[in-house]
Amino acid sequence: MNINQNYLNLKDNYLFAEIARKVKEFKAANPDKDIIRLGIGDVTLPLAPVVVDAMKNAAIEMGDAKTFRGYDDNQGYDFLKSSVAGYYAKKGVSIDENEIFICDGAKSDTANILDIFGADNAVVIPDPVYPVYADTNIMVGREASFIDGNIGNTFLPMPDTNVKFDIVYLCSPNNPTGAVYNKEQLKIWVDYANSIDAIILFDSAYEAYVCDDNLPTSIFQIEGAKKCAIEFCSLSKTAGFTGTRCGYTIVPQSLVRNEVGLNKLWRRRQGTKFNGVSYIVQRGAEAVFSEEGQNQTKEGIAYYMQNAKIISDALSKLGIWYSGGKNSPYIWLKCPNGLSSWEFFDLLLTKANVVGTPGAGFGANGEGFFRLTSFGDKDNIIEAMKRITDILK
Ligand code: PLP
Repeated sequence: MNINQNYLNLKDNYLFAEIARKVKEFKAANPDKDIIRLGIGDVTLPLAPVVVDAMKNAAIEMGDAKTFRGYDDNQGYDFLKSSVAGYYAKKGVSIDENEIFICDGAKSDTANILDIFGADNAVVIPDPVYPVYADTNIMVGREASFIDGNIGNTFLPMPDTNVKFDIVYLCSPNNPTGAVYNKEQLKIWVDYANSIDAIILFDSAYEAYVCDDNLPTSIFQIEGAKKCAIEFCSLSKTAGFTGTRCGYTIVPQSLVRNEVGLNKLWRRRQGTKFNGVSYIVQRGAEAVFSEEGQNQTKEGIAYYMQNAKIISDALSKLGIWYSGGKNSPYIWLKCPNGLSSWEFFDLLLTKANVVGTPGAGFGANGEGFFRLTSFGDKDNIIEAMKRITDILK
C-alpha cells in the first residue's frame, strides 16, 4: 500500500498553529494582560433572527412524518436555487437554476472542482491569496505557478499576455489583501481567458462586503464570463454561516471545453461524491435571501465595515500603507520600519497585546505585510487601534 506522496509536498499548515502557540506562551507569562484578537478570519456576530426561525421551523418539519425529508437532489432544493437565481438577477445577472449547485461552503468546492480538470493543466494562482488553492493543487500532484500581487499593482495582478495557462484562480474581494478588481480589470481577465481557452475559478466569498456600486460582485457581470468562468460563493462571511455551512457554485451551461459541458461534468462529480446540504440549513440559507434576511444580514456587514473604518482610519493617521477595509472585511498593511511579518506580529503581541495575522502565511509576497480583520467587537477594535497607535506614533 502506498500513500498519496503529493501530500508530503505540502508545507506544514503552521500559520494559525504558530499564532496560537505564541499567544498561549505570552498569556502564560503575562496572565494579567488583556489580549485583543484581530487575526481571525471568522465572523463573530450570531445568525440573523429570520435565519434561526427558518431553521427552527425546518427542524420541526423534520420531526413530523408528514413533512420529513430524506435524501434529495444533491444539487440543492429548488427553493434555495430559485433564491440564489433571484439574488443574481438583482445584480443584473441571469443565471438558470440548473447552473447553481448548493454546497457546504466555498472551501469544499474550490478544492473539489479540480476533480473535473485534467492533470496536465497549467494553473496560475495569485500570491498572496487564500492558501487552499495552492494546497489543493499540490494534493493532486500539480505544481502551480504564481502571479505577483504587490504594492505596484495594488495587490491586483493582471494577466501577462506572454504567459499561457489553462486555469487561473481569482479571489475578489481578496483574502488577505482586501483588494477588489474593478469591471475593466475583470474584463481584461475574461477576454484573455477566452482568447487562450482558459478557465477562471472566481472566488467571491466576500462579495457581500462590496459597498461601492461600481465594483463587480460577480464575474458574470462581465461580458463573456459565462464562456470561461466558474464562480464560488458562500454564506459564511455574508450571513455568519461559518459554522452552519452553506454555499453555492455557478457553472454556466455555456462553459464548454473539449466539446464537453463543464456543468454536466460537475453534476456528474457531485452526483457520485456529494449527497447535498441539510434541509434545515438550506431553509436557513433561503431566509438569508428574503427581504428581511437581506436587511438583517446587511446590518451585520455594516457593523463589520464600521470596524474596518476604525482600523483603516487609524492606519491612515499613522501614515501606514494599507489596502482593503473599504469593500472588504480585511485590512492588509505594510509592516512599518521594514519589519518582517513575524517581527511585527511579535511587536503587536508583546507591546500592544493585539493579535493579527502575519502576511507571510499567505504567500511569498505577503512577507513584510500583515492582515487585520474587522470581525470582532467594536469597543475591542477601538481599544486595539488606540494601543497600536500608542506604540507606533
Ligand atoms: N474563499 C476564501 C477566499 C476564504 O477566505 C474562505 C474562508 O475564509 C473560503 C473561501 C471558505 O469559506 P467557506 O466557509 O464557505 O468554506
